[in-house]
Amino acid sequence: MCFAVMAGPVPAIHVLPAKKDVDVRDERGHDVERPAYCRYSVGMSSTTARKPRPEPSVSTSSARPTLLLAWYDRHRRRLPWRAAPGEASDPYRVWLSEIMLQQTTVKAVGPYFEKFVARWPDVAALGNASQDDVLRMWAGLGYYSRARNLYACAVAVTREHGGSFPDTEEGLRALPGIGPYTAAAIAAIAFDRHTMPVDGNIERVVSRLFAVEQELPQAKPLIQQLASTLLANSRAGDSAQALMDLGASICTPKKPACSLCPLNEDCTARLQGTQETFPRKAPKKSGTLRRGAAFVVTRGDELLVRSRPEKGLLGGMTEVPGSDWLAGQEDAAAKKQAPELKGLSRWQRKVGVVTHVFTHFPLELVVYTAKAEIRTRAPAGMRWVPVATLADEALPNVMRKVIAHALG
Ligand code: SF4
Repeated sequence: MCFAVMAGPVPAIHVLPAKKDVDVRDERGHDVERPAYCRYSVGMSSTTARKPRPEPSVSTSSARPTLLLAWYDRHRRRLPWRAAPGEASDPYRVWLSEIMLQQTTVKAVGPYFEKFVARWPDVAALGNASQDDVLRMWAGLGYYSRARNLYACAVAVTREHGGSFPDTEEGLRALPGIGPYTAAAIAAIAFDRHTMPVDGNIERVVSRLFAVEQELPQAKPLIQQLASTLLANSRAGDSAQALMDLGASICTPKKPACSLCPLNEDCTARLQGTQETFPRKAPKKSGTLRRGAAFVVTRGDELLVRSRPEKGLLGGMTEVPGSDWLAGQEDAAAKKQAPELKGLSRWQRKVGVVTHVFTHFPLELVVYTAKAEIRTRAPAGMRWVPVATLADEALPNVMRKVIAHALG
């Protein structure tokens, strides 16, 4: 049998359980005959359809969930938010970790998670905190809209749900900042609901296991379907975490350790020798470079800052005054947007530029510095903060780079 999932341009198609030689449907819902060696196939071209693929051997698809759980019981990662074997998961810790882990690595999240639970040990404590405190504690983790949604969610759970998270995917999705993946992850891990959250690690494992030829992101629904076949009848949360751990430690993007993988006898990509080519992805489009200026003004031991608008990129975060960030902006045009203060020294341009890459565009900032006299008042909407307390400000990484560059 073959587990290759092929796609050219790929029609929407359902994956059905194998039944004799009729196992898939075309885009109109008609049964399509496939050779018995192909259990899953999507958008297969006539040439590839006739060519038998290497055949997974002994283990069957029904054995995979059991193999995965047995491996997980021996090799699970110890993570600060994870319950010990046999202990019930704490929905607050699961939720907090899942929000923090969006777009961020386990290594980066660890210290932030510890700080948050030390200060706010449950969702009610977080829901009764101030948003400014939450943003300050989050500073450095990036993607700051997550912090605002995190806080809004804690407030909603505290005020509208009596401090208990809803225990269904539907109920969870109604909360701020919880999308389909996060809802499934919390439902499975915290409440053992029979659902499979599919993150990047799981996408990689599944796309290799079944040799999914369709490119991401179009392949997501198919990968979701295939991933669901790896759920055990009970311990749904452990099934999901087993796949996450397998992707993080064994089925890594480069050089997967297939000899240690519990699913290796049944993995199509391994049998083909094509592991590292999955998941298939469309080439990335990088955004257009934007350019601007940042103005670092000191008054003795203080620095001039302002808060960004609540909505939009880095909403509500602290920044030094700056120009617009525009594609193709000339330095002279950016410099004209410098703040106006009485008794300011001449602007000094720092050598070099600060670069930062956001999700949708790279940014280049020229940095200017100036000194203000000791009694100079901050312009409207700005404030002086002691340099010694900058760590308490909700400074995004790009501003940390700017200040470090300016103050040397
Ligand atoms: S056998 Fe290799 S490629 Fe296949 S799932 Fe396991 S680690 Fe990944």
